[in-house]
This record gives sequence, structure tokens and C-alpha cells, in this order.
Amino acid sequence: TEEALHRQDKLAAVGQLAAGVAHEIRNPLTSMKGYTEFLQLDETDPSRKEFLEIILEEIERVNDIVEDFMVLTKPKAVKLELKNIIPVVRNVASFIDFEARKRNVQIHFHAKEEEILVSCDENRLKQVFLNFLKNGMEAMPNGGMIEVSIQKKDGEVQISITDNGVGIPAEKLKRLGEPFYTTKKTGNGLGLMVSFKIIESHNGRVIVESELNKGTRFNIVLPAKTA
Ligand code: ADP
Ligand code: MG
Repeated sequence: TEEALHRQDKLAAVGQLAAGVAHEIRNPLTSMKGYTEFLQLDETDPSRKEFLEIILEEIERVNDIVEDFMVLTKPKAVKLELKNIIPVVRNVASFIDFEARKRNVQIHFHAKEEEILVSCDENRLKQVFLNFLKNGMEAMPNGGMIEVSIQKKDGEVQISITDNGVGIPAEKLKRLGEPFYTTKKTGNGLGLMVSFKIIESHNGRVIVESELNKGTRFNIVLPAKTA
């Protein structure tokens, strides 16, 4: 029957997800095991400190993956509060500004209004803006510009993050948000999945526009509130 087929699809999706998680976690585990075994053989090895540092980084990698997945298991755990969204976005932009300068990326922030109220979980939304800004920077390996703008339009709040980086080929657009879909050497392909999920739990949506070698715009639309 159709329902049975649908269930099969779902099971297949769960299997794929599990395979992805297992794969992503096995790599750092293998490397931690190797370095720990090495240290066990010779505790006075001069590279001890360096190896311990690598082990810590790998633990962090596993931790990041687990944390990202928490969002999927507890979508209802978002605590929505009425907040002015403008300083929230501004804070994330200035938080990442140091890293951006190092990479020759300028971040420009525009907001005409002083206050735009949104019902949101501030920390979760910060995670989303951070993910989009990081992706923007990573799309411009030789530097460039990211424009962040916030405006209220037709009872909705639009937050757009635009870079002038490598862009996304049209046929790849539908893969965005798929778990573990990444085109980066050290990416994990979880940032967009988590971000889309968080925006969904805010009753919002994300629109992506991109042109190859020109740049990409992520437009986050959230319902506006009045005090
Ligand atoms: P990751 O950053 O670890 O690769 P994400 O889920 O954040 O994972 O992004 C998935 C993929 O989407 C990226 O690997 C990249 O191919 C594409 N992508 C996301 N944002 C951008 C962007 N601003 N410009 C170009 N490609 C992007
Ligand atoms: Mg990312």
C-alpha cells in the first residue's frame, strides 16, 4: 500500500542519516584512538602536547555533531520570547568581525528601523545567523563582502545575508539542508540542516537565491510581532 511505501521511505531516510552520523563520528574516534595508543607506548614523547591538542580538537568535532543533532531531537524545546531582533543580529555580526577581517571579508550591516520585534529563541537564532555568516565567509576564499540587512515588510521580518562568493549551481540548490551535504574539505554539512530546522520552529522560512561566481543570498523570513 501507499502508506507502507511511505514508511519504507522513512526507514530508508533514517538509515541514511544513521550511516552519515556513524561515518562522521568514526573518523575522529579512529584518530583519537591512534594518538592515545601512541601516547600509551611512550608517555614522554616530545610531541605529547601536540597529540593531546589533536585529541581535544577531535573531541570537539564529535561534540559539535552531537550538539547539532540535539536540535532535531528537541524541536519543541525552543523558548520563544519577544525580542528586538536588530541587536541580536548586530551582535553576531560583530562577534564574527575579527575572524572576517583576518580573511579579508567586510561585513556591512543595514537596518533602517531601531526596533523590530520577533518572537524568538535568541540563542538559537544567533546560531542560525552565525552559520549563514560563516558559510558566506567560506564562500569567499579570497575575501569579499557580506551585506546583512533587516527590514519589516508586509507584517514579516526579512533578514538577508548576501555574499559575493562562489555561488551555488542551480542543480545543487535543492540539496541544501540535507544532512552531511557539504562541498568543503573540512565541512560537516550540518549547519544548514540545523538552521532550517530552527527557522521552521520559529514559523519562518528561508529563501535562497544564488548565481554561480556572483554570490548567494539567504533570506530569512519571520513573522513580525507588535508589542
Ligand atoms: P558546511 O558549511 O559544513 O559545508 P552547511 O550545511 O553549512 O555545511 O552548508 C552546506 C553546503 O552548502 C556547503 O558545503 C556549500 O556547498 C553550500 N553553501 C552554503 N552556504 C553557501 C554560500 N553562502 N555560498 C556558497 N555555497 C554555500
Ligand atoms: Mg556551514
